[in-house]
Amino acid sequence: MRRMRLFMVGFLLASVAASAATEVAPLAAAPGAYLFRNVRIWDGRSDAPYAGEVLIVGNRIQSLSHAGIAPAPGLHPVAIDGGGRVLTPGFIDAHVHMSSVLTRQEAQEADPVYVAALEIRGAEQALLRGFTTQRDVAGAVFGLKRAIDAGYVVGPRIYAAGAALSQTAGHGDDRHYIDPPRRLGGGLTLEERTGMTTIADGVPEVLAAARDQMGHGAAMLKVMASGGAASEFDPIEVLEYTPEELRAAVEVAASFGTYVTVHSYNSASTRRAIEAGVRCIEHGHLVDEPTMRLIAERGIFLSTNVVVYEVPPPGISETQRAKFLQVRAATDAMMNLAKKYHVKLGFGTDLVFGLEQMARQSREFTLRARWFSPVEILRQATSGNAELLAMSGRRNPYPGKLGVIEEGAYADILLINGEPLQDITLLEHPDVALALIMKDGRIYKNQLSSAGAAH
Ligand SMILES: [Zn+2]
Repeated sequence: MRRMRLFMVGFLLASVAASAATEVAPLAAAPGAYLFRNVRIWDGRSDAPYAGEVLIVGNRIQSLSHAGIAPAPGLHPVAIDGGGRVLTPGFIDAHVHMSSVLTRQEAQEADPVYVAALEIRGAEQALLRGFTTQRDVAGAVFGLKRAIDAGYVVGPRIYAAGAALSQTAGHGDDRHYIDPPRRLGGGLTLEERTGMTTIADGVPEVLAAARDQMGHGAAMLKVMASGGAASEFDPIEVLEYTPEELRAAVEVAASFGTYVTVHSYNSASTRRAIEAGVRCIEHGHLVDEPTMRLIAERGIFLSTNVVVYEVPPPGISETQRAKFLQVRAATDAMMNLAKKYHVKLGFGTDLVFGLEQMARQSREFTLRARWFSPVEILRQATSGNAELLAMSGRRNPYPGKLGVIEEGAYADILLINGEPLQDITLLEHPDVALALIMKDGRIYKNQLSSAGAAH
């Protein structure tokens, strides 16, 4: 089944490649040299933007200046007049599932080529929302990443965990009550067949499953360490995996030069994971104050999300829906604690089960305004998330600087209509708010006229 799917995806990508000249090229002009003039540069870290110019050569930012830039002799960059707009780094989403393009019911019967086509569409839509990099923390997206990096299709850079490790009856076990267990001859679950999760119990299976993901090219490992909302068997308070099993995953990640991140909502699961050497917590909504202090003291990243709980996703059971509401109710307390202890906070969305759900991605900016200033939110979505991505160490697929406007950084750049540092909510409507989107030195959207019309 898996092999069949990979074959079909390969076939689809080959078809796309054959027509690349007509479909992809107009959307993404080849990288060359560009000089952004008349822009206000927000560099991903500072409190305020400054007027200046930015020179792009190839896929990197070559130079920045408060005054004018004189390109080297022989270099003739295309000048882009930003009309005084704010220029920012491309956005980074730290928690996505790019292969979750259907509900579980729909996925049971879906044609693999249809699924792959939706994944490609979803990747393009994310890029056009200004997300030039995404961290995929469960899903079979290695092929999608490869096709995007090769330029056959359009989408963000992807940091992929591959299949998330789950214990039996854990957050990644999507069997039905009627299915026999593995040890009595039960087959793979839907999520295992589609590469979303892999069930592993005991140290030897965890070691093998972790090595499988590394073999596929994972940038980090994702392990399910507590109960979750979109699963049936595990209340949020449950601890998943023993300390020995967690340490086994950490050992595999460390030997490949990267780290483990865990799905973890409650205090006990979060403490157990941190003691086992895990360096990032996904979600964390129900952690108590001592645990939040521990997260801060150990320099652990908290990669959390708000928007996914605003409206529980379609196709879930009453049990799952109740857990979504439980997590939503805990969000305010978590954010206040994270703020109090200056925790390194990731900006993620976790939208699953369809492109309509993923379309709410940019609403995360608006929802965070309840706790954070615009510049704090923008830092989370750029330089802050980039620090998390860099934890992939030797497994980092894009080892240059991301999330900042600095000399030598990757040329992932947005030009924004309006004042995002005054009103973050305008980013909720990227079709209106984003005047220009550049990724890796290529322009994917440009609303500016050649004269660079002012807004
Ligand atoms: Zn998730």
